[in-house]
Amino acid sequence: MANHIESLLTKLKVQDPLCGVSCGGIWQPGAGESLAVFSPIDRKTLAELTTATSEQTDQAIASAAKAFVDFRTLPAPRRGELVRQFGEQLRAHQAELGQLVTLETGKITAEALGEVQEMIDICDFAVGLSRQLYGKTMASERAGHRLAEQWHPLGPVGVISAFNFPVAVWAWNAAIAWVCGDPVVWKPSEKTPLTAVACQSLLETVVAEFDDIPPGISQLVVGGAEIGKQLAADSRLPLVSATGSVPMGRAVAVTVAQRLGRSLLELGGNNGMIVSPSADLELAVRSITFSAVGTCGQRCTTLRRLMVHESIADDLVHRLRKVYENLPIGDPTDPATLVGPLVDARAGAAMERALTEARLQGGKVHGGNQLTKGVPNGGIYVQPALVEIASDAPILQEETFAPILYVTRYNDLNSAIRVHNDVPQGLSSAILTCDAAEAETFCSAAGSDCGIVNVNIGTSGAEIGGAFGGEKETGGGRESGSDAWKTYMRRATNTVNYSGKLPLAQGIRFDV
Ligand code: NAD
Repeated sequence: MANHIESLLTKLKVQDPLCGVSCGGIWQPGAGESLAVFSPIDRKTLAELTTATSEQTDQAIASAAKAFVDFRTLPAPRRGELVRQFGEQLRAHQAELGQLVTLETGKITAEALGEVQEMIDICDFAVGLSRQLYGKTMASERAGHRLAEQWHPLGPVGVISAFNFPVAVWAWNAAIAWVCGDPVVWKPSEKTPLTAVACQSLLETVVAEFDDIPPGISQLVVGGAEIGKQLAADSRLPLVSATGSVPMGRAVAVTVAQRLGRSLLELGGNNGMIVSPSADLELAVRSITFSAVGTCGQRCTTLRRLMVHESIADDLVHRLRKVYENLPIGDPTDPATLVGPLVDARAGAAMERALTEARLQGGKVHGGNQLTKGVPNGGIYVQPALVEIASDAPILQEETFAPILYVTRYNDLNSAIRVHNDVPQGLSSAILTCDAAEAETFCSAAGSDCGIVNVNIGTSGAEIGGAFGGEKETGGGRESGSDAWKTYMRRATNTVNYSGKLPLAQGIRFDV
């Protein structure tokens, strides 16, 4: 393993010795505590590095602020060219970066490659966007006046990311931030720093080719929650984008709001799907299984709650149980595997706790055991669980970051939508139906209250072209496609008077 990881890191242009801090294009060892990085596959140590101190984080923020001064005036299409070339590096290194994602997160190869593909896709999107940062022109009420909006770079952006999408979420933020003219300071999850070091290394080889782009457009600070807190508190970062659990987002939101900064929050989900009597059950089984057990239930968009019409519930549960019993669970580097390990023992314990609680609340649990045979030693491998349970069981209110799917029954669509919306989180949702009125109702103002509302596909696997994010405790942030870029810019409304007179708005007379 040690040799394999070394050769991977070398191919990904990571310098030896491994450093946890990159500031102004220069790598330095973190002067903080040492951090061992484990693979969820077998709990073996992948590498060790040292974390950034508060002083190093302060320097990284200062470096981003300095880079901003020049970067903001570079034409946006030129910034887009940087992102285009970074996308090319990702294409060239997709296989190696995918392997590293699998080793560090435990997600299966196909999903790891998909994550890198998302990075490539967002780079393509951002390149086009770099020529489309449009402002509106409005009709002025005054003769000889032009009223228009311009979008300007906002400033350095702090990015705090979670372990389960260790590189895609950074890319969603960074590619857009760069074309918008904003340098980035990235604090990755302390569980997945190696993929972050690799991305930063690839980026630096691209930046080095540009003599008009300051190296400080991207800094990396590896460390734990305290560094995230520092980013949240620092007013030199007008925007902090934070992805992770609800408690983390709440803490970041309060700190950033206190200094009247802007936060973009991408927090926990508790995603539901309604399966109506007209649904195609073959399609249902496939979309439910991918959404519920993909990434071993560790996606923010993982399907956690199923509301099935009572007329088809027995049939659907029977079909799902058959599929669940035959899922290939094990080493995520094996192409035949569909379900890899949970990230660590804490995640395994949280799953056990939730299943015990579900049983106490009257749930009938199918599966959910930890596996020790036929899987790599040391990792936490579980059989995904199906839990038949009443729709008002309190456990349905919680996100447990593991493959547990609660199955409830309904007999009327409106009550199913009420149950669907009756949770604190509001990220992703879906309805499976061949009835157009049901589909439109679910998508309407009286339907799902989530940020992502799907028809006849599952809750996970979003495309980068849409704005990604959710409502309620999911935090309200939107990143990636559509007009999410506006969060990374400031808007100036310009009124230009070329009339030679001074008419006042609203017809006010003020003669002096
Ligand atoms: P986590 O909250 O434990 O950690 C996320 C990041 O926040 C890490 O980098 C961590 O060091 C940092 N952090 C923790 N406490 C902090 C604090 N007080 N201030 C600043 N930073 C802090 O989450 P995780 O276990 O890595 O990821 C799983 C969670 O993330 C789940 O709840 C999942 O739904 C959510 N998630 C959401 C999205 C989304 O787009 N909505 C995407 C991925 C993951």
